[in-house]
Amino acid sequence: MAIPIPSRQLFIDGEWREPVKKKRIPIINPSTENIIGDIPAATAEDVELAVDAARKALSRNKGKDWASASGAFRAKYLRAIAAKVAERKSELAKLEAVDCGKPLDEAAWDIDDVSACFEYYADLAEALDAKQKAPISLPMETFKSHVLKEPIGVVGLITPWNYPLLMATWKVAPALAAGCAAILKPSELSSVTCLELAEVCKEVGLPPGVLNILTGLGPEAGAPLASHPHVDKIAFTGSTATGSKIMAAAAQMVKPVSLELGGKSPILVFEDVDLDKAAEWTIFGCFWTNGQICSATSRLLVHVRHVRCRWLSVGPGWPDGLGAVPESIAAEFLEKLVGWTKNIKISDPLEEGCRLGPVVSGGQYEKIMEFISTAKSEGATILCGGARPQHLKKGFFIEPTIITDVNTSMQIWREEVFGPVLCVKTFSTEEEAIELANDTHYGLGAAVISNDLERCDRVTKALQAGIVWVNCSQPCFCQAPWGGNKRSGFGRELGEWGLENYLSVKQVTQYISDEPW
Ligand code: NAD
Repeated sequence: MAIPIPSRQLFIDGEWREPVKKKRIPIINPSTENIIGDIPAATAEDVELAVDAARKALSRNKGKDWASASGAFRAKYLRAIAAKVAERKSELAKLEAVDCGKPLDEAAWDIDDVSACFEYYADLAEALDAKQKAPISLPMETFKSHVLKEPIGVVGLITPWNYPLLMATWKVAPALAAGCAAILKPSELSSVTCLELAEVCKEVGLPPGVLNILTGLGPEAGAPLASHPHVDKIAFTGSTATGSKIMAAAAQMVKPVSLELGGKSPILVFEDVDLDKAAEWTIFGCFWTNGQICSATSRLLVHVRHVRCRWLSVGPGWPDGLGAVPESIAAEFLEKLVGWTKNIKISDPLEEGCRLGPVVSGGQYEKIMEFISTAKSEGATILCGGARPQHLKKGFFIEPTIITDVNTSMQIWREEVFGPVLCVKTFSTEEEAIELANDTHYGLGAAVISNDLERCDRVTKALQAGIVWVNCSQPCFCQAPWGGNKRSGFGRELGEWGLENYLSVKQVTQYISDEPW
């Protein structure tokens, strides 16, 4: 089924504009490897125009501009965007599926989440009005003080390709709710639905310049945005390597940044679990969105009990006299995981029942295959997958892969693969599980699966991660904070924390005594 891709230009000051250098980037459908359209490629000249438009939006009709309008005024636009996105759900989901390879029903969930997120921040925009001028109690009666929460100004929003419209929404909705004017730079690998968001904004009559959308390459369009002196804040989601460049550029101007970066998140499966439920969350937690999830729980730690008993010893590789006893869940759990994983339906994302589509690009395909081959050469064992599915001759498809016999110094255990690859290690005590889980530069997500809720509580507190899932992996709600620790970044998106990202706090203190000071 051919899905027509609308041909669009850059969206600047409420209008479609051809990029100054007239360059375009081809769109490749990752399922077929065919070129299905193209997107405009912005450069520094277009960034300049977009920044001007955004600044104008904040000072257009003195007193009635976007920044100083009431939250209730802005909320009307956010709700109108939510409604239009919902109306176009089926079309937007199909565009997402052909642009980035996401299974169609997962793409449809994303579009639902996009609408819900705009609605949610409409509520928060309204609530912001009531929170203004909150008094602060002072130790001196001669003064009174309150706080004004004001939009930061013009914000640059740079996003990745794995949840194209949803990642953009996590930034656009709170930025607009706060009263900022924004310039969005989506990933060059999947910009189609973000350009449709521009069309939606036109249709609902969003004031010109409030949201500008520049598609293009990172170094050509993202870098000049990050370093622009009249952009007041950068919110970035993407790889840790690019995040570090963004932070360096922002540091030149002491510009605030929030960074949502990569991860290598663990899932800890204890011996008391229901194996079916644990397997379901393990598989979903790693292979959902074709495994291209920043918070994918891609390191499985599963309980195995070791005993010091020479005759149980299982052979070379085990410390002297150490063997696995039958009550360990690892063997049965892995057998189940492998069986279920082999049954995952891999197909074109538009096909009924597709559970795993292609990875986003040829570059990502090569990178993931290289990870798998290095793991093999370092001595790891591929329990299942590890290759292109035989029935698919074209497209960037990779079988869901489970790898065991890994050690903690292997690349596959330490680095983010960002593809459908799960690595497995066993542990025998809670302490060992926590130590293995935390032995990473990353700190985005983690999952604990156990029927002992006291243990879940203990382990949750000990895990170094911004998000901990208990007896599940990956569910995400726009009301709850999202973000990581360590090299997974800093700052929090979503919930009230997401709105605070785009607000600055002004202290106002008044002298109220008639007495001379
Ligand atoms: P990426 O870093 O390659 O690109 C992200 C964005 O940055 C793109 O829009 C790209 O064009 C732009 N960019 C690239 N170079 C730039 C530069 N020099 N200056 C400014 N902008 C530049 O990341 P990606 O491959 O698109 O996305 C995958 C990564 O994103 C993974 O590491 C994943 O973990 C991470 N991610 C994190 C979260 C989170 O919430 N923490 C969510 C989704 C994805």
